[in-house]
Amino acid sequence: MENHVSFFSELLGQYCYTDRITIETYSHDQTEDISQLPFMVLKPKTVEEVSKILAYCHQHNLAITPIGARTGLSGGAIPNQNGIALSMERMNNVIEIDEKNHQVTVEPGVITEVLQDKVKEYGLFYPPDPASKGSCFIGGNVAENSGGPKAVKYGVTKDYVLNLQVVLPNGHAMWTGANVLKNATGYNLTQLIVGSEGTLAVITKIVLKLLPLPTCDLLILVPFRSVIQACQAVSEIYQNGIIPSACELMEREAMICSQEYLQKNGVEVPIPIQKHHQAHLLIEVDGFKNEALMDDINNILSVLEKFDSFDANDVLFAATEEDKKQLWMLRRTVGHAVKSISVYKEEDTVVPRYALPDLLKKVKELGDKYAFRSICYGHAGDGNLHVNILKDTMNDRQWNEQLPIAIRELFSEVVKLKGTLSGEHGIGLVQKQYMDIAFDQVSIQLMKQIKKVFDPNNILNAGKIFPS
Ligand SMILES: Cc1cc2nc3c(=O)[nH]c(=O)nc-3n(C[C@H](O)[C@H](O)[C@H](O)COP(=O)(O)OP(=O)(O)OC[C@H]3O[C@@H](n4cnc5c(N)ncnc54)[C@H](O)[C@@H]3O)c2cc1C
Repeated sequence: MENHVSFFSELLGQYCYTDRITIETYSHDQTEDISQLPFMVLKPKTVEEVSKILAYCHQHNLAITPIGARTGLSGGAIPNQNGIALSMERMNNVIEIDEKNHQVTVEPGVITEVLQDKVKEYGLFYPPDPASKGSCFIGGNVAENSGGPKAVKYGVTKDYVLNLQVVLPNGHAMWTGANVLKNATGYNLTQLIVGSEGTLAVITKIVLKLLPLPTCDLLILVPFRSVIQACQAVSEIYQNGIIPSACELMEREAMICSQEYLQKNGVEVPIPIQKHHQAHLLIEVDGFKNEALMDDINNILSVLEKFDSFDANDVLFAATEEDKKQLWMLRRTVGHAVKSISVYKEEDTVVPRYALPDLLKKVKELGDKYAFRSICYGHAGDGNLHVNILKDTMNDRQWNEQLPIAIRELFSEVVKLKGTLSGEHGIGLVQKQYMDIAFDQVSIQLMKQIKKVFDPNNILNAGKIFPS
């Protein structure tokens, strides 16, 4: 160990850490209550330093985990016990905004919202907007193929990644593709790295596609007396040819929980939640002409009129920018709020949009069968439902032994509905035991072989994605 510490200290000086506080800080992400202590935290600044670190780890068989902002929800950034935590936070420059080609080149440690604000100054738009955008890094977004509310109209991170500079586990630095919108040249290594959860290579530069910045948007909060009808309404909106820029679902309890959490933290979001409101849809449309957006909103409302549990009188129209900010804050806070009330597990289920009501029914049926309470919310327009299962009064045996059986049953149902285990949070540590539900053995072996080609010594984020 001492030899390793002196090698890395010589390379990085003060940016090689072995003190208790730093080690503990980097032992966890936002996933449930799991943590594993690394023996060292490294914070390189350049691709050359990343190369030297990985070449050394490869040579000495040292486990190393790339780490972004640690907002991950599947344990991807939790380092191996006694391994190395490789934080990318000092590689945080926006290198170039290419206005002529609508592209931006960034380092992985740039906060997603900082990037969005920076390109906005040029009238440009980077759409993927995870609810954690104020803290997560763009490198983490690429490694997880993150989504967010706007994915329903604009797509997820992969749809914007044109080219990547990566360092392979043996220390070799390379570009995976070209800075072009079309590329039919060989295998698509760029997209293989996207969503690979830090298991194949360390991302050190990212070239992203940008769009012209929409100049206006409208936002409404729509109450329903039935959560199932709220889910049915979502696919009805799309079947009528309307494409909102966000269509988010919040169950009644998700709204209340978020509102109470904000209140406890001194933020009032005075939105009336009537006794009979079981769910809300937060619907946004965006574009370049306000009148066209008003037409979209009116069309959406007339589609919703078909549902007898839709409460037309209680639709809330965000009249000011402050109203919009408050409604989005309410939605973005749900995750933190739920976490604050109980130990919980979050499943990131995703099904074709039309199957969303069936998924929700199944979640509640399983809750009755296995005696768990769930709070559901998420990106309904994508069919991506975050199912938060609360420990509440479940005893440890129910939680540790019964719940995995319930989750297995839930995922099996999701696959029957032609969906899959994770829409955007990844597999990481916490979902890997369920991979056999989504893939047959041949597919899993193929993926493991790809991992082996990139990382023959299995040093990079080992133990993630694949069942042991
Ligand atoms: C309140 C809250 C709301 C959220 N909302 C959303 C949402 O709406 N949509 C969504 O998709 N996600 C959401 N997330 C999950 C999380 O924010 C995303 O997965 C995000 O992309 C993680 O970024 P990060 O920088 O925190 O990465 P980390 O959590 O640090 O790491 C995530 C993974 O990326 C790998 N990694 C990080 N950097 C690199 C790199 N440079 N090279 C190679 N691998 C790397 C890590 O090894 C790890 O496997 C939310 C999380 C929270 C806490």
